[in-house]
Amino acid sequence: MTAKTCVVTGSSSGIGRAIAERFGEEGHNVAVNYRSSREGAERTAAAVEAAGGSALIAQADVTDIEAVQRMGEKVHREFGSVDVLVNNAGINQDVKFTEMTHEEWDTVLDVHLDGAFHATQTFYDDLAASEEGRLINISSIIGKGGNFGQANYATAKAGMFGFTRTLALELAPKGSTANCVAPGFIATRMVEDLPEHIKDQIREDTPLGRLGTPEEIAEIVAFLASDRSSFITGEVIDANGGKDL
Ligand code: NAP
Repeated sequence: MTAKTCVVTGSSSGIGRAIAERFGEEGHNVAVNYRSSREGAERTAAAVEAAGGSALIAQADVTDIEAVQRMGEKVHREFGSVDVLVNNAGINQDVKFTEMTHEEWDTVLDVHLDGAFHATQTFYDDLAASEEGRLINISSIIGKGGNFGQANYATAKAGMFGFTRTLALELAPKGSTANCVAPGFIATRMVEDLPEHIKDQIREDTPLGRLGTPEEIAEIVAFLASDRSSFITGEVIDANGGKDL
């Protein structure tokens, strides 16, 4: 298999780390992006290398366009042109709508949507020029179904569907693809931090009776990033244990 160069935003933990490590297993070059968890990024980079890939730690707050462009220069210097971009960086600030501040609204939309915009603009030409350019956006089941206390998060994640579909159309003439993965509830710190009774409720509402694992999402991303997915574009792949909100 030919080594590809992949950028995974927000890969210092959780789903992003599992994706980076999975790319490592394929022997790819992986830029491990993070905002503040340097130690986490170092752990991810070590896992990528142990799995057989090459890793580059690439700090940048994805809400900061200049920082993302500097990250782009670093990735280009170290690895050359990028074949796969995974827009994964994400946060949540949950509060019911009547109590949500404008700052809480903006902060969440900025990370997910401005972050995806900045990273995609930075690597767009690479993806378009690559023989197998792949843009993969990590959305959420919440983008489809909404969720109490998550108006900001649900709006951001729904926005990623339209973003993906449009980028799929614009990249298609170049032969590159754009797809989205919409995970259900996955056992990462984003969900582990929830109160125990809420996690029990989630398991109960999920036909498969459990949370998903980051590795299960990484497996889908690895497929979308590979030549095995070459005729799939503009799609949202649900991975939610059968949970239908
Ligand atoms: P996580 O473990 O908290 O990981 C979030 C990652 O995003 C971290 O690496 C974090 O880096 C990074 N990040 C946050 N803000 C950033 C910024 N401004 N710039 C760069 N990196 C930033 O959460 P996760 O569950 O793996 O979430 C990963 C993605 O999956 C998110 O987009 C999330 O919305 C989505 N998702 C998660 C679930 C779930 O149930 N867990 C379900 C559906 C979708 P630092 O720690 O360095 O800030």
